[in-house]
Formats: sequence, C-alpha cells, structure tokens
Amino acid sequence: MFLELSKEEDPLNGNQTGIIFNIQRYSIHDGPGIRSTVFLKGCPLKCKWCSNPESINPYPEIFLRVERCNQCEKCLEVCTPQAITFIENSIRINRDKCDLCMKCENICSFGVINHIGYKITVNDVVTEVMRDELFYNNSGGGVTISGGEPLYQIGFTLNLLKEFKKRSLHTTIDTTGYAKWEEIDKIFDYVDLILFDIKHLNQEIHQKGTGVKNDLILNNLVKILEKGLRIWIRVPVIPGFNDSSHYMNELGEFLSGKPIEKVSLLQYHEWGKHKYKYLDRIYPLSDTSFIEDEQLHKFKNIIESHGLEVTIDY
Ligand code: SF4
Ligand code: SF4
Repeated sequence: MFLELSKEEDPLNGNQTGIIFNIQRYSIHDGPGIRSTVFLKGCPLKCKWCSNPESINPYPEIFLRVERCNQCEKCLEVCTPQAITFIENSIRINRDKCDLCMKCENICSFGVINHIGYKITVNDVVTEVMRDELFYNNSGGGVTISGGEPLYQIGFTLNLLKEFKKRSLHTTIDTTGYAKWEEIDKIFDYVDLILFDIKHLNQEIHQKGTGVKNDLILNNLVKILEKGLRIWIRVPVIPGFNDSSHYMNELGEFLSGKPIEKVSLLQYHEWGKHKYKYLDRIYPLSDTSFIEDEQLHKFKNIIESHGLEVTIDY
C-alpha cells in the first residue's frame, strides 16, 4: 500500500497521491456517527499545544524511541549516509543527513525507529476507508479528512472527496481555515460538513499561539457561512491562551446569530507530549496546567447563553 517516495518529487502537489500519517477507524469525535478519519501531513500553523506534532511537517519523518535501544549497532551498519551516531551510549539521528531509506527501521528488532507518514494513492485510501461502509451506514457516519491541514494537499484532498461522494459516503473536512479561498471553494460540492477551528479572535494572541494571523481564517469563515454549508466550530480550550470567561463571552457574541450547527469545546490534554521527544523537539507548553471539567462547563454555559448549541469533546 505504501509507495516509494523519490527525493525529486513534491508529493504535496499530487492529485492521485498524497502523504498521510494515519487512517483512524471507528472514530466518533470527528463528525456524526462512526467514521474513518484520514490524517494528512502538512500544516501551515504551529499551534503550541498540537497533539499531533507529526502532522506539521508535510513530508515523512522518523520517530526515534531512544529508550528502547539496546545499542546493538545493526542500524549503524546499514545507514549509508552515516546519519546515525551513538553519543554516550544513546542513539542519535542527524535528520538533515537522513534520506529516509528506512533500512534502519527494517533491521531493528526493538521498534526504536519508525517512519511517520507515507505516500499513498487516492484509490488505496478509498479502499481502506470503504472497508467499514456498513458501520457508516448503520450509524449515520462516513469519512473525515483531517490533518495537519487537509487543504495543504488540495489536489489529493479534492480527489479523495470526489471518490467518496461517488460512493455516496458522508464527507467531512476538519480544517484550520488557513487556506486560499480559491482552494476552499473547490471542495464545496463534495463536502457535507465542515469542522472549522477557531483558536482565538484576537489577531496578536492568535499569532503567538499558532504562528499565523487569524484574518484569513475569519474571512474564510464568513464566506463559508454565506455558502450555507453545515458547519461545526471547534475551539481548543488552552490554559493561558483562551481559557477565560471574558473570552468565551466574546466568542459567543461573535458566533451568535450565525448559521452554525454547534460549537465543540475541545479539552486541552497532553496526550501528544511524548511524540515531541520522538521527533527531537521540545514540547512548547511544558508548564501548562489542565482545565477542570467544572471550568469547561462554565464556558459551555457562557456560549450557550448566546443561543448556540455547545458540546464538550476530548
Ligand atoms: S538496531 Fe535498533 S536496537 Fe540496535 S542499535 Fe539500532 S536502534 Fe538500537
Ligand atoms: S532512514 Fe536510512 S538514512 Fe535515515 S537513519 Fe535510517 S538508515 Fe540512516
């Protein structure tokens, strides 16, 4: 199912192939019913709380679980670009030298090195997703294209959506909204529901938390609403970023009266923290505290007071 990726090609411009890092079956949080969620690699945002840090880089990369290594050095022998070294009995990979040949993954018996992300065809994704057609039909579910940012690989995403629609599957896209309008406009005929993230309404705070300004996102939201599509707003509730009653009231006021089906408050968690270590990155929110359930319910009530339906999700 996985295709070879040559160094010369840019898989992000593919129409019939793309780079994904997971197809999650039996998903119940990414739209109605039971769904399969296809996670594409590549995202223009760098949210400090991202629980899928492997989704940000659009290309395949390596997870390195140093603690599993027994220093047998078999991987060292097969690594032609000499990207592997041992420093103080601990394996290191020079990611600039590594050409992702994955010979090390194949020779290691301890699961120390794993590739994350692979090139795949539209047909293979569709075949995999359609295996659970019965569950989708019985539960009112379908497929969700997520990421990363699925519009980052617009050609691939568009063709996936078209193929799923040919099979009468309910389609959802989970987007940051950070994309050119011309690209978003292409997908409307093939999408039943949009999950649209709003991280913060304040431009400066948004940029500090995500690395980008929010004007493009908010302009796109207005245009999507004008199109009359089904839309759920998703709000990750992040300590020290947007977790105040004042902000939730502001958000409720902003969304009030708009044709939004519901608002999902997503509770902050650190489930993805360990993955930063596997990627040799530092988790940016290491001192962040949790949000209590009571606090989330308070925020839910505030937004509901603006006439919106609100759920708490995880
Ligand atoms: S082959 Fe696996 S266990 Fe052996 S040194 Fe390499 S990473 Fe460590
Ligand atoms: S993927 Fe290939 S180049 Fe990269 S560390 Fe492993 S053996 Fe070396």
